[in-house]
Amino acid sequence: MNFLRELWQAVIYFLFPPHCPNCREMVDERYQLCPKCAEKILRLDLKSDPPAPLDKVLRVTKYREGSRTLLHKLKFNNNLRVVPVLKKILDDVSNREEILNFLKDVDFAVPVPLHQKRLKERGFNQSEEIFGEWLAKKNLPLKNILIRIKETPQLYDLGKADRKKVLTGVFAAAEQFDLSGKKILIVDDIFTTGTTCKECAKVLKSLGAEKVFVLAFASDFGENLLTPKK
Ligand SMILES: [Zn+2]
Repeated sequence: MNFLRELWQAVIYFLFPPHCPNCREMVDERYQLCPKCAEKILRLDLKSDPPAPLDKVLRVTKYREGSRTLLHKLKFNNNLRVVPVLKKILDDVSNREEILNFLKDVDFAVPVPLHQKRLKERGFNQSEEIFGEWLAKKNLPLKNILIRIKETPQLYDLGKADRKKVLTGVFAAAEQFDLSGKKILIVDDIFTTGTTCKECAKVLKSLGAEKVFVLAFASDFGENLLTPKK
């Protein structure tokens, strides 16, 4: 049985050799980034000064080139075919010490919620698609504690002040949870100004959460908002 499966796999790989999802270079395994793209995109690190009320922010990739393209395909073209690529990236970094240390402190995870209407249009919450299975493997439940009570426009062309205005009061608890002493991980696809996650954290902390961390699939940590130095 195993032999047949391996043979089938070999045939498939021969007929459809795996390509890097970013630059189409040939790679060994399906959904794998080529070394050049991995080098450019993977930037697992912690933000040294997380904006209050967030206690820690970790990103998996830089919000550049490949990861930006992949996430936009998922979010704006509803293209679920990129999900295995994102999952593979997560799996590849998942046993890194930074990640394991980060997760040691966490009780459970919460996705950034979509408005009911957007969820219906898109058919899925991209944060759940990206992180759900991976979190389950790490024995961390993903709980829908938060809901989005106001519809908001797309944020990508809004500056920090406008985002804050648009996002204030957008999130609420799905019910009156008691989160006393809980350490909660918000999972989000893209972290730029952090306004969305900060608004989510405010609600979680108002319910008693002790710590709120963020694991973002992609972030520039505000770097692209700075005027380039000459
Ligand atoms: Zn590549």
